[in-house]
Amino acid sequence: MEDITLEQAVELLLRHSPQPQKEAVPLTEALGRIVAEDIRASFDNPPFDRSPLDGYALIAADTAGATAAKPARMRLAGEECAGDFYADRVHPGEAVRIMTGGAMPQGTDAVIRQEDVQLAGEEVLIPYPLRHHENYCFAGEDIRRGAVLVAAGETLTAARLAVLASQGVASVPVWRRPRVAVASTGDELVMPGTPLTPGKIYNSNLFLAFGRLRELGCDVDVMGVVPDEAEPAARRLAEKSAWADLLLTTGGVSVGKKDIMHDVVTYMGAERLFRGVQMKPGYPAIGYRLKAAMGLALSGNPFAAYATFELIARPLLAKLAGRKETSLPRRRAVLLDAFPKESRGRRFVRAFYEEGRVRLPEQHASGSLFSAAGCNAFVDIPPGTGKLEKGAEVDVVLL
Ligand code: AMP
Ligand code: MG
Repeated sequence: MEDITLEQAVELLLRHSPQPQKEAVPLTEALGRIVAEDIRASFDNPPFDRSPLDGYALIAADTAGATAAKPARMRLAGEECAGDFYADRVHPGEAVRIMTGGAMPQGTDAVIRQEDVQLAGEEVLIPYPLRHHENYCFAGEDIRRGAVLVAAGETLTAARLAVLASQGVASVPVWRRPRVAVASTGDELVMPGTPLTPGKIYNSNLFLAFGRLRELGCDVDVMGVVPDEAEPAARRLAEKSAWADLLLTTGGVSVGKKDIMHDVVTYMGAERLFRGVQMKPGYPAIGYRLKAAMGLALSGNPFAAYATFELIARPLLAKLAGRKETSLPRRRAVLLDAFPKESRGRRFVRAFYEEGRVRLPEQHASGSLFSAAGCNAFVDIPPGTGKLEKGAEVDVVLL
């Protein structure tokens, strides 16, 4: 398809891309991953009734009527530290020294804090009466067997890892990270760290793509620069198609002499899904599929590459990552700065959004990326819009 809307391009990519894949990973590798299945508690936690403090476990009824002047006297029958298990039954008139987290010995139903008792030989003196279940934690108080610990689609945070660990879960079913091979085309490009010679520029798009992909939780193969010649570029990209879920390139998509990506798609034997997306910047983007891998060839202009990455690639990456929500959030907002250009076609302008208001940086040419670094949104200007005044209401896409 040619010359399609952004929404159509995204829909084609979502429709033709494979379903996300599951894998099981150990807890130490699961932070930040998206859970692929509901994970339920397999037992009540804590697994036994236990003491919430360091003290003495006893039978509350034994302490009825106790006062400081006339304390109830219990025989100290034994001691239980956390991790021990006091197997004997506790009889009326006995107390067991217990530490925080210790299992309540059979027969006991309350705990008195250590600081409140006095010891006299083999006896513990209790200066006040305790209620049934005073200072007493019940099994299952934290988590009930069968409760959903982490739901499918939720991201694993440190707290969720701890909850899973408390249930003895050692490995978690998560969605496999999307695998993306990323390359730049352009014989003018030089990698940072190499001296710049006349006519050359440093490759910045590669680092934008690399950084955003990693921020979004992808596995990234940074291929570097592929030559501005269709056959060798096609060979290098095709080599990655067995591993990658997405082949992502920037540059070489418009109509210049070295705009090789149209031929690259043909040489690889890929199925082209679209070319030309009705948006400025980034119109010449190409979407394709090579066996199980999806391909996106984005414009090389740094801001165009950025905008199309966010608006076209991100929904696809969200699907591949197993996210339920693939579209970016949108808001209506009031412009705090005028936008002096008319927009014949649909245009995306970098912006900073905060609480219903949106600011525009001074520089917004598509060859410039500098001012995008402080932005967190795009204003989505519909086709046929005149100059925008301060105070105008606009649609904003949040990044
Ligand atoms: P192209 O899409 O290949 O026609 O490139 C459009 C413009 O973006 C040209 O000015 C290129 O030099 C520039 N450009 C292309 N790729 C990159 C890149 N990886 N990093 C920085 N600028 C680039
Ligand atoms: Mg180029």
